[in-house]
Amino acid sequence: MYPKQFFIEQFSEVASEELLVKLSSEDLVDNAKEAIRDILAARGMSVTDINRVSKEMHKAQYRMARGTNECDYCGNLAKSNPVLNEGQRFCSKKCWHQARIAEVAVDLTEATILQAARKIRSGVCPVCASMATPVEVRYSYIATSIIIMSNQETKTRLCCVPCGRKENRGGFLVSFFIGWWGIPWGPIFTIAALFGNLKAMFEMMSDEEPSDELIKLTKNQLAVGALEKSAQIL
Ligand SMILES: [Zn+2]
Ligand SMILES: [Zn+2]
Repeated sequence: MYPKQFFIEQFSEVASEELLVKLSSEDLVDNAKEAIRDILAARGMSVTDINRVSKEMHKAQYRMARGTNECDYCGNLAKSNPVLNEGQRFCSKKCWHQARIAEVAVDLTEATILQAARKIRSGVCPVCASMATPVEVRYSYIATSIIIMSNQETKTRLCCVPCGRKENRGGFLVSFFIGWWGIPWGPIFTIAALFGNLKAMFEMMSDEEPSDELIKLTKNQLAVGALEKSAQIL
């Protein structure tokens, strides 16, 4: 990772407003965020103001209307049957909901999300109701071929270790029997699916902490819960 100084040099000429937008974006590394905070503080902004304004700007992004035929959430064409809501245009109900969920999620702190994710991880498996092994987002892989058409699919499921392994066994068997029979992709997809399942089965996340995928899922769940509480949608 680049040191903070690198980002301070990168961002020193950038306007404060743009920095605040950057600060609230999720894909910035910690050192870059720290650098932006330092620059803004040096320009006279207080920590509270930096937090408040960047959050407000981040939320406002999800309320922006492009005023075109494109979806205001995903950017795809939303010409036929668009969902219109509060001046915005969405290609589907799903995008409308995702925009509102993303807006609410801005207010969730990392600590709250982590705490909730840990609770899910040590809680009851949503598939088999067992509490014996950690609940995680688990992957399984399936390759299928019909004559010359080949397809590969990655499935995710929130479940315990035995439930995850069961999915992997299923994916392994299906791929083993009907994955091969397409040229050229059948064998390639099949080998990838077989190894993917084996790897997932024997490597059932020994980490103590929730995975990034579980954190993401938890964040989404918390935001949906908050939205339901305020009865805005859903
Ligand atoms: Zn969309
Ligand atoms: Zn289970």
